[in-house]
Amino acid sequence: MASNKNTVYIAKTMSDVMFHIKTVPNLAILGGCTSVNEWPASSLVIRNINDFKQIGLHEHYAEFGSAVTLSQIHALGQKRIPSVLYEAIDTIANPFVRNIATIGGNICAGGIKHTLFSPLLALDAQLEIISLTDAQYIPFSKFVIVPEKCILSRVRVPLTDWEVAVFKRLGPEHQLTDESATFTFLATTQKGVLSDLRITFCSSIVLRSRELENTIIGSRLPLSEKAIDLVAEKANELYDGAMAEQADAKPNPMQKDQFLNLLRTSLNQLT
Ligand SMILES: Cc1cc2nc3c(=O)[nH]c(=O)nc-3n(C[C@H](O)[C@H](O)[C@H](O)COP(=O)(O)OP(=O)(O)OC[C@H]3O[C@@H](n4cnc5c(N)ncnc54)[C@H](O)[C@@H]3O)c2cc1C
Repeated sequence: MASNKNTVYIAKTMSDVMFHIKTVPNLAILGGCTSVNEWPASSLVIRNINDFKQIGLHEHYAEFGSAVTLSQIHALGQKRIPSVLYEAIDTIANPFVRNIATIGGNICAGGIKHTLFSPLLALDAQLEIISLTDAQYIPFSKFVIVPEKCILSRVRVPLTDWEVAVFKRLGPEHQLTDESATFTFLATTQKGVLSDLRITFCSSIVLRSRELENTIIGSRLPLSEKAIDLVAEKANELYDGAMAEQADAKPNPMQKDQFLNLLRTSLNQLT
């Protein structure tokens, strides 16, 4: 697999992982290796490490080791994990790839945001990052890249009940291209009032704004046309802002229209 110029280490224990991180410069951490087009000079495959293959289902959250495969998560079924996560996994690659592709790899892969990014961002997942000295959880919304000499070790996903949960993919299903994008919409109500709302859109840009969501959280349902117009207008501005701010963003006017249509359709579902 690796040419003479590339070294692939296979970690068998956690001490192996730490030893390699400490001693090998510019080490790339790999899970299932299904995203690898060009082998890095030095890489460490962590998919055999027991600690990274564990799934914990708790009352309020599920915890997945970063080397848990997409098939393992899918096999838990729609009732035990958030439906948007289940549906997103359903659209990724094919069962053969999902048997080896890991949740960690899906989150950390560079370039266009992969399919789980939008649902995990909307669900307020948390990521445990371990370094040589400590381990800490960070909110998904703060995640950009795993720092050098660190590993994404666990993904914690809150198990909140959402009354409206929408996951949609743009571009071709079962493969990633420059046209790929994902939209997630989650909402919950209390006594006819919108009590929580999450909206994410991920492609070459990452779009989530608590300010946008707060525009209508607390509104009585159904939403008026005026309220929906206001949210769509703000979302339009946010989209343009994200395109301007994010260095490798690829403008796509058709995708913007699709995002705004999905947003309007989802808001109209709130009754
Ligand atoms: C035919 C085919 C179709 C596909 N279709 C889709 C699709 O529809 N949607 C989609 O999202 N993806 C798709 N993929 C891409 C890929 O299979 C998935 O994104 C998969 O989840 C990546 O996981 P992996 O374990 O193979 O990652 P890897 O290839 O092992 O790693 C991916 C990246 O993440 C980094 N990384 C991995 N684990 C860690 C960790 N624990 N800590 C720090 N960094 C880490 C690696 O350094 C690398 O940069 C497809 C792939 C194929 C071959």
